[in-house]
Amino acid sequence: MPEGTVLCSGLIEEIGENNGKITHKRLSNGKKEVYTDEAPILNHQTGMRKLADLLSDEKHGVIQSSSEVDLVGHRVVHGGEEFADTTFITDEAIKTIDKLSALAPLHNPSNLIGIRMAKKVFPEAKQIGVFDTAYHQSIPEFAYKYAIPNKLYNEYGIRVYGFHGTSHKYIATKTAEILGKPLEETNLISVHLGNGASITAIKNGKSIDTSLGFTTVGGLVMGTRSGDIDPGVIFYLNEEAGIPMNELKNTLYKESGMKGLTGTNDLRIIEEDAQNGKEEARKALEIYGYRVKKYIGAYTAILGKTDAVVFTAGVGENSPDIREMSIDGLGQCGVKLNKEANRNAKGTTLISEESSPIKVYVIPTNEELEIANQAYALATE
Ligand code: ADP
Repeated sequence: MPEGTVLCSGLIEEIGENNGKITHKRLSNGKKEVYTDEAPILNHQTGMRKLADLLSDEKHGVIQSSSEVDLVGHRVVHGGEEFADTTFITDEAIKTIDKLSALAPLHNPSNLIGIRMAKKVFPEAKQIGVFDTAYHQSIPEFAYKYAIPNKLYNEYGIRVYGFHGTSHKYIATKTAEILGKPLEETNLISVHLGNGASITAIKNGKSIDTSLGFTTVGGLVMGTRSGDIDPGVIFYLNEEAGIPMNELKNTLYKESGMKGLTGTNDLRIIEEDAQNGKEEARKALEIYGYRVKKYIGAYTAILGKTDAVVFTAGVGENSPDIREMSIDGLGQCGVKLNKEANRNAKGTTLISEESSPIKVYVIPTNEELEIANQAYALATE
């Protein structure tokens, strides 16, 4: 840093299973050397240790010893209202992240394992937390509060927190750079469509509304999550159909979205099925695209002047069909798609017509780089 040059990258999968998979890619002189291994990785601790060993491994490593690492940037999912910024991870911060586990029971405890382990493995490095929710702390009260009794906000913290903040912030910064405008004067709609998906309205570089709210199940149609539904559906299914709450939760988080509509959450398969004339797949894509379009329309309304709509993440970067379905017909709002550019988009691409008042881009997201940049900025402040 600050060049942001990638020296190596890696992935550890199937932690806790018998067939743990390790992938370690080293980049040297523009060449990528890939090392893979399969071995049981009993827990996250073992995984982190393995990762650190590989970093300084004689054959595959990029450093001599762990002590060369100055900063470790951690992605932490929930920062509640306590963390509106990237922060040094002190003992106090660890306590707060732990307390916030109630709001993100699947994520914050694992993030803490990573933090505790990194402190052991890289004892000389500064640990820095980058929170998925932090970027959305600029959302004004009238947008983050739900119209439910105030008591529920005051006592339980029920409000919009928003997620994917690291990605949305990266996209905002990149878009401003591409448009040649200061971030503080850039208005955009960032459409992050991965397995999880969210869309954010960004005014003067700051998040002013986002589609994921208190948890990660609302908003857009996702891979396995429903997105927006009338909350009354849950009571009806519980009270009238007798479906227990835990089963309903599982249904809405894991069996809904594109999986619920088609049987798979992989957009590639759904698109192929739709092309082969499978009606169910075509309809599911229509539902997905319609929901994105509805949000883009709403966000152009709240932004006033919008400079750009930007698609990112697995689906957003790779699916011309979804992009087309999401913005086709938005000409009235000032969004005119260039269908050919959209079909041929690769990497960062402008996909709107020359005459389109609102530009449309595909920009690959890079959350790791954003975490590195934020950690570096904090440490050199
Ligand atoms: P996450 O980080 O939320 O798990 P990603 O951003 O990696 O997700 O996106 C994963 C999703 O992207 C996959 O489920 C798949 O549906 C979709 N995807 C990946 N490649 C393509 C492609 N070439 N065409 C359409 N969809 C794709």
